[in-house]
Amino acid sequence: MSPAVAKIERQEKPVVAESRPALLLDWYDRHRRRLPWRAAAGERTDPYRVWLSEIMLQQTGVKTVGPYFEKFLARWPDVTALGRASLDDVLRMWAGLGYYSRARNLHACAVTVLRDHAGVFPDTEEGLRQLPGIGPYTAKAIAAIAFDIRTMPVDGNIERVVSRLYAIEEPLPQAKPRIQELAATLLGPSRAGDSAQALMDLGSSICTPKKPACTLCPLNDDCSARLRGDQETFPRKAPKKPGMLRRGAAFIITRGDELLVRTRAEKGLLGGMTEVPVSDWLARQDDKVALEQAPDLNGVARWHRKAGVVTHVFTHFPLELVIYTADVAARTRAPEGMRWVPIATLADEALPNVMRKAIAHGLGE
Ligand code: SF4
Repeated sequence: MSPAVAKIERQEKPVVAESRPALLLDWYDRHRRRLPWRAAAGERTDPYRVWLSEIMLQQTGVKTVGPYFEKFLARWPDVTALGRASLDDVLRMWAGLGYYSRARNLHACAVTVLRDHAGVFPDTEEGLRQLPGIGPYTAKAIAAIAFDIRTMPVDGNIERVVSRLYAIEEPLPQAKPRIQELAATLLGPSRAGDSAQALMDLGSSICTPKKPACTLCPLNDDCSARLRGDQETFPRKAPKKPGMLRRGAAFIITRGDELLVRTRAEKGLLGGMTEVPVSDWLARQDDKVALEQAPDLNGVARWHRKAGVVTHVFTHFPLELVIYTADVAARTRAPEGMRWVPIATLADEALPNVMRKAIAHGLGE
C-alpha cells in the first residue's frame, strides 16, 4: 500500500469509543476555560473552592456566579472562616443569587465541616454525601475535581453531550441513569476531574443547545447525532407541565425614609429572607381579600394601588403582584413581627429578586 493510500485510510478510519477519554483530555489541555474557582494546570485544587462554586452553580450560570464567588472568597477565604460566620451574613451576601435554601445549606455544611471534620472536607464521595446540601451530583463533582476520584458528575452540559454522542432516544428525566452510565465510559484511567471538566466545557462552548460547533468537536468522528444530522433535538425531553399562575399583593409602606419589612419563615419558599408584607398568592387576585391581609397600621388613611403589576417566575410557578403603597406618620409603630429599615440600607438586607422588583415598582414614580 502506498504511503498516500495509508494516510487516507488512517484519516477515514472512525475514532473508536476507547479513544474518547484521551481525545477529550487532549482537547481540554488546549481549550479549558479559565474560571475563578478552577486551579491552573499543575496547581493543587482547593476543595473549598470546588464546593463553593458547585453550590453556587446549582441552578445559576457561570457569568452570574463569578462575582458572588469572588465576594465570598474575599470575605471567607476558607471553610473555617465560613463556618464561623453568622447565617444572616451569609444570606445577605447571597441575596440576588436565588434558591436561598442553598445559602442555608452552605452555611450548615461549613459549620459541620468545621465542627465534625476539623475544617477539612471528607475526601470520599460517601463522606461528602453526609454533609448538608451535598447531593449525589455535587459529591461526585467535588470527589472528581478536588480529590481526583474516578467518578463522573453529570450536569446539564454533560447530559447534552452524552445524549448526542449516543443519540439517546429515551427522554429526560427517565434517561438519566443511562446517561450516567455512558458518561462514566468517558473517564480515562486517571485525571477524573479533568475529564469531567472537559465534558462540562465541551457542552458549554462547543456542544451548545443551539447550533453546536461540531466541526470543532474532538468527538465528532463518531457522534451518533451528528452522523444523523439531528444534534439539536437531543437531549429528548418529556413535555413540561407549566406551573399555574399565582397572583397576590405586596404592600410598600414608607415612614419617611424607612420601609416596613419582615422576615419570612425559615422553612419553605424564600425561607429566612426579607420581604415586604404580602397577601397570600392565589390563583385569582381579589383586591378586597388582598387588602384584608394588609398590615394593621394606625394612620394609614388610604392605600394607593400602583398602575401595572410586578411579574416574577419561580421554578414551579409564575407570580403576578399588584402593589399597594402608603406613607405613614413619623411615629407609627411596626406591627408585630415587622420592622422599619432605612431605604438607604436596603442593599444590606437579604432581599430576594421578587421583593427587589416589588420595592422598585412601589417606590418608583
Ligand atoms: S459532534 Fe456535535 S453534537 Fe456530537 S458531541 Fe460534538 S458538538 Fe456535540
